[in-house]
Amino acid sequence: MISLQLHTISPNKKNSPFPISTTPKHLIRKSNLKNRPNKIVSVLQWNRKPELSGETPRVVVITSGKGGVGKTTTTANVGLSLARLGFSVVAIDADVGLRNLDLLLGLENRVNYTAVEVLNGDCRLDQALVRDKRWSNFELLCISKPRSKLPLGFGGKALIWLVDALKARQEGSPDFIIIDCPAGIDAGFITAITPANEAVLVTTPDITSLRDADRVTGLLECDGIKDIKMIVNRVRTDMIRGEDMMSVLDVQEMLGLALLGVIPEDAEVIRSTNRGYPLVLNKPPTLAGLAFEQAAWRLVEQDSMKAVMVEEEPKKRGFFSFFG
Ligand code: ADP
Ligand code: MG
Repeated sequence: MISLQLHTISPNKKNSPFPISTTPKHLIRKSNLKNRPNKIVSVLQWNRKPELSGETPRVVVITSGKGGVGKTTTTANVGLSLARLGFSVVAIDADVGLRNLDLLLGLENRVNYTAVEVLNGDCRLDQALVRDKRWSNFELLCISKPRSKLPLGFGGKALIWLVDALKARQEGSPDFIIIDCPAGIDAGFITAITPANEAVLVTTPDITSLRDADRVTGLLECDGIKDIKMIVNRVRTDMIRGEDMMSVLDVQEMLGLALLGVIPEDAEVIRSTNRGYPLVLNKPPTLAGLAFEQAAWRLVEQDSMKAVMVEEEPKKRGFFSFFG
């Protein structure tokens, strides 16, 4: 029988609230379990709010290059987690042609106006903002109607105008503006990254996604966005163990980015997508939901995590890399 030893795990901050609770128990030696929580615990149970420092709003673009890797899922779940932590959040769906953030959030029937109508002067900004009934400090802004083309002239400047208008609202500027970026690196991508001052790069541990992520990292840096953190999504420990999937440590070494979170492959994600009920609101929490919640916490505190090395015992022949 292979027994695995937890080699390293350390979120950067000493007082970080993250337990090693999301590490599957079979990857931790029994003796290691003594001092660790033995059930999945939500970070919301910690009795401190993460500290938000620096200028607000923090304008964060969620991007990837490749499509279908989890940008919209990340925007919905990290956005709602931030709202649950008490921050005011506006999520902008900048994926114009293939808008679906409203679906994931279950807000599709409440989008009457979009940013295009605001810019045309057909409605006010607050009419285009859809307030979530579950967390009233979370609002959604869609750029345009589904299947419609981006109007000529809509670009980075228009998005900057919208961000400035959000800052200038009577009720005060939001703490976070999160932009769901379209796939690819063409005009839609350029528009989405223009107002951002930081980025979360979502990637899956496969070579195509990594190549796109690397290219996007270069483009973000060229655009002056230096604060780039990554989320590795759809990680399967069984495949990593079988050496059929790249480990998170490998991904981190390849991209050289700070790690905001590691999200396991979880059927609950698909279920929650189809129900329009974001995963982080699930009770009891699921592993992927907790991982998103923790990523949101790290985003607030400008923190990052380290990939974890899990070593094979007792023969110590090879090693597997894993995550915490
Ligand atoms: P993108 O916005 O990058 O195109 P989405 O967030 O729409 O990607 O996700 C694409 C699909 O992958 C969706 O069906 C979603 O439910 C699924 N998915 C995303 N993350 C996970 C995960 N961790 N486990 C299982 N399915 C996932
Ligand atoms: Mg998407």
